[in-house]
Amino acid sequence: MIKFYIETNEVAVPTFNSSGCYDIARKDEYQTMEIKIIKSTELKQKPKKGDSLKFGTIFTDHMFVMDYNKEGGWNNPQIIPYGDISIAPSAMVFHYGQEMFEGLKAYKGDDGRILLFRPLKNIERANQSNNRLCIPEIPEDIFLEALKRLVEIDQDWIPTEEGTSLYIRPFVIATDPFLGVRPSDTYKFIIILSPSGPYYPEGLNPVKIWVEDEYVRAVKGGIGYAKTGGNYVASMKAQEKAHAEGYSQVLWLDGIERKYIEEVGAMNIFFKVDGKVITPALSGSILPGVTRASVIELCREWGYPVEERRIDVEELYEAHKQGKLEEVWGTGTAAVISPVGLLRWKDHLMTINHGKIGELSQKLYDTVTGIQRGRIEDTHGWTVEVDSVLENV
Ligand SMILES: *Cc1c(COP(=O)(O)O)cnc(C)c1O
Repeated sequence: MIKFYIETNEVAVPTFNSSGCYDIARKDEYQTMEIKIIKSTELKQKPKKGDSLKFGTIFTDHMFVMDYNKEGGWNNPQIIPYGDISIAPSAMVFHYGQEMFEGLKAYKGDDGRILLFRPLKNIERANQSNNRLCIPEIPEDIFLEALKRLVEIDQDWIPTEEGTSLYIRPFVIATDPFLGVRPSDTYKFIIILSPSGPYYPEGLNPVKIWVEDEYVRAVKGGIGYAKTGGNYVASMKAQEKAHAEGYSQVLWLDGIERKYIEEVGAMNIFFKVDGKVITPALSGSILPGVTRASVIELCREWGYPVEERRIDVEELYEAHKQGKLEEVWGTGTAAVISPVGLLRWKDHLMTINHGKIGELSQKLYDTVTGIQRGRIEDTHGWTVEVDSVLENV
């Protein structure tokens, strides 16, 4: 067993706010937090070069685990061998879905550096989700240190081939053994890692998308902007329907009028119409994507007018009829940029750019992935290097 100490001046001390959720009061005094590291003695077989690395199927040797209780706040951070966990069948997460998750990636650059892409954005969003879901916020410095140290320990699992990366999945679950409905008093925060192959092994092929006008995913005032399992279970029925019709993903419309564009399954959506880039505004029912924010910044730098606003699906249909719907693409950590070749809305089929990837979509893909891998100079300060500190511990 090795002990590794991180220093932090943020300590989670729970207090109740008016809605009965926890707020984190921050103590200013200097504190030392210790991440205990227990290295696995039975290292698993790592995938070989050329293995397909289907998304989310292989997990590394270690995981990060931290507990929360009312008395101690977030405490007992540990990196331990990846394995099953034991929790009560009555744990609240199973019954009322109080859980939050995140998704980000680590890359190994050509120069051997290990880079995380905008992890602070994910940490900030995790705490926004936590806040909405009445889960106590996680101190940012502990969260970042946990990501770095876990990736450092399992760095030999980061695949290096084109289009591959190490997918990082942090999540929190409510663990009180209790069937009453209220926010839990205890939680587990866990981070697991999964090497993943290129999202599209055959290259950047445009996908077919079904515009859903029956089921809805989220409404304003609900949990649509939080990254949480509840939004995904709400989406599965429509996803099945779209699959049965031969479409790979669903494009959601707003939950009230079913006419304003929201987002795709696990991606935000962009349209290039008559030279302008348009994307739905963050109105509370869609996820504020890190890739979305990055793409907006890049497009503006390149001189494209970018509009974040309400988009009526009818407006898109009209633009398509007039030949002005030039490109459509989704943005998300998993695929980075996913070009859309066909949209189906009611009985209307809209083929985009002859079903081929557009020029701007390709440039965005090349630029974002280039920055992620350290091949293109990171002028925005988006990448965070995982430094080596554990060698001597
Ligand atoms: C995670 C997610 C996205 C994409 O966000 P990124 O930060 O770009 O990965 C978009 N929509 C939903 C519903 C998501 O869960």
